[in-house]
Amino acid sequence: MSDLLEIKDLVIRFDTEDGSVHAVNGIDLHIGSGETLGLVGETGAGKTTTALGILRLVPDSGKICAGSISYKNVDILKMSDKNILDIRGNEISMIFQDPMTALNPVMTISAQVMEVIERHQACTRGEARARMIEILGKVGIRPERVDEYPHQFSGGMKQRVVIAIALACNPKLLLADEPTTALDVTIQAQVMRMINDLKKEFGTSMILITHDLGIVAKSCDSVAIMYAGEIVEFGSLEDIFDRTSHPYTKGLFASMPRLDVETERLMPIAGLMPDPMELPLGCKFHPRCPHRMEICTTDNPQGTEVNYGHLVKCHLHTTKNGDMD
Ligand code: SF4
Repeated sequence: MSDLLEIKDLVIRFDTEDGSVHAVNGIDLHIGSGETLGLVGETGAGKTTTALGILRLVPDSGKICAGSISYKNVDILKMSDKNILDIRGNEISMIFQDPMTALNPVMTISAQVMEVIERHQACTRGEARARMIEILGKVGIRPERVDEYPHQFSGGMKQRVVIAIALACNPKLLLADEPTTALDVTIQAQVMRMINDLKKEFGTSMILITHDLGIVAKSCDSVAIMYAGEIVEFGSLEDIFDRTSHPYTKGLFASMPRLDVETERLMPIAGLMPDPMELPLGCKFHPRCPHRMEICTTDNPQGTEVNYGHLVKCHLHTTKNGDMD
């Protein structure tokens, strides 16, 4: 069966007065129907830019320079503006990170949900209102509150409204960008559970953007680890958690507190993500990597399949070095 979405060799740059920002540097990704893919990495890795690229919403200074984004076997990058407007918010929708800025403060939440339904579905105003009440009910908002304004809701309730807007037209693919980061810890698990339940109910595929491996463990089927605009490791949940192969992924796990392992000290990854305007030659992780070799400073490694469907971009895993595999 073909994938619902397949990204090949995607390159996205931003041109600024100071130079080019290399945000996404030739990534490959795929996701099947009903699957959840975790897109994991530190701030600045290019995760959100990738999601905006899928929706063709890269801001004005940005440019998709190369690659393809195939959705149901049609390249989104070659679609007409009308076709992409029909798909965006309808078949592919996004839950934005911050509910405070995602909602319009001068529109009631009922109007904001109905706007999406009426834009994409052939229905009467009465049918749109009924659907709005139904979808807000699914995220726990009672009918008597639907005509209130965003400022009358708490942060957690606002994020529920954002989720309802994203799900209003039963999307095939949901892009969830750190959907719980702006929420209190006490309600993060509740909102994540709700997203997962709704996703199962509607059979939706999801790309879950996060830096939290705990959330990934509970929600994802496959995982892509992103660093400096590249996917450095991709595999099933078991590949990434039980057969961790890339030094950066190992570093992420070592810096994460765990209840099942007794650790005296967490081991943060030394150094910082490189400036996307001045990426290092060779492997982008080499200035921080405890295993770097001479070749790492000059040659960017290709992806190597270390296990069926488990790809790693690291010279330790290329046969040319004879070190492994
Ligand atoms: Fe480390 Fe070299 Fe692998 Fe990069 S290619 S992660 S520097 S060992």
